[in-house]
Amino acid sequence: MTSILRIVLAVVAGIAGLAGLYLIGTPASLAHQQAWELGAVTLLLATTLLGTFWDSLRAAGPETVATLPAADTLALSETAADPVQSEVSKLLSLLRQHAEANETFSTVLERAREELHESLKTEQVRIIISYLMIENDKMKARTSNLQASLETSQRQIEKLKTNLATAEAQGLSDPLTGLKNRRGFDVVLASQLAAARNGGQPLSLILADIDHFKAINDRYGHPTGDDVLKWFARVLSSNVKGRDTVARYGGEEFAIVLPATPLENASKVAGQIKAQLEGQFWQKPGAPNTMLRVTASFGVAQLNLGEGTSALVARADSKLYEAKQAGRNRVAA
Ligand code: GH3
Ligand code: MG
Ligand code: MG
Repeated sequence: MTSILRIVLAVVAGIAGLAGLYLIGTPASLAHQQAWELGAVTLLLATTLLGTFWDSLRAAGPETVATLPAADTLALSETAADPVQSEVSKLLSLLRQHAEANETFSTVLERAREELHESLKTEQVRIIISYLMIENDKMKARTSNLQASLETSQRQIEKLKTNLATAEAQGLSDPLTGLKNRRGFDVVLASQLAAARNGGQPLSLILADIDHFKAINDRYGHPTGDDVLKWFARVLSSNVKGRDTVARYGGEEFAIVLPATPLENASKVAGQIKAQLEGQFWQKPGAPNTMLRVTASFGVAQLNLGEGTSALVARADSKLYEAKQAGRNRVAA
């Protein structure tokens, strides 16, 4: 029912109520009992309709509240800033509307209870019950609207969560090789360091740097250099297992985090990779005659007691420098 219709009905019922009151005041034109009944029924109708109108102005139904400018402005301004926050705001707004609608419904029930408390005639009771049924239907509609909106919001939040997880994963990985990037490496190393400390286990780190990689780029071009990087990443990954993590530390430099591994074993892993590189050629895709021997230098360090991640990386890096200085294609630990 629209507000205008409610106003018209309330005015009509009010006029009828006044007429009823007049008749009560001048019962000569009508039997006293009939006049009383007519007056009371129309008065009741007028007050309940006016009450409904007042409530609808105060609390507003779902269809009007859903487009309240304040809620919309809030949602729009926050959509740009933080979609999750915007969705949560929408949910809160929905719940607020529902709470207000509930309050209105409770007021209606309370009023009806007061009316029914007095001894009323059958017709009056019938009117009150009809009115309550209308209010109940409205409440049912509001509840099902709310449920639908909540379900939509929930789906939206699930989608946002998935997008966020994907974005987060993308932010930690290197698009060229698919390995963890520098940020991903930092995260892994920090958590492995904490785990090593808690569990009293050794933790080792290998830094590997392709030898004379610039010359590969210069001779075959940058895209070929990229292919070599992807191939090198696969070689490293195929030589580790379990909880070990291979990451692209930057450029043609890679890192391997080895939990529960002492220096000696980490050096063996580095030596194994070095030997594998020495024993094979990189073949240019689509050009089987272009074969290249790719070697790398390795710096290995084991976590010292009380040491942080940067100190561990610095020690592995200085070992890598040693390997380069000693002539490349070697392991320094
Ligand atoms: P060294 O044996 O001393 O390590 O010599 P290097 O040539 O390997 O090292 P240098 O630091 O001189 O050159 C590294 C090169 O790696 C330079 C840079 O252009 C190249 N590079 C870094 N990132 C990428 C990449 O993503 N793709 C390609 N193709 N090249 C890259
Ligand atoms: Mg290099
Ligand atoms: Mg380098």
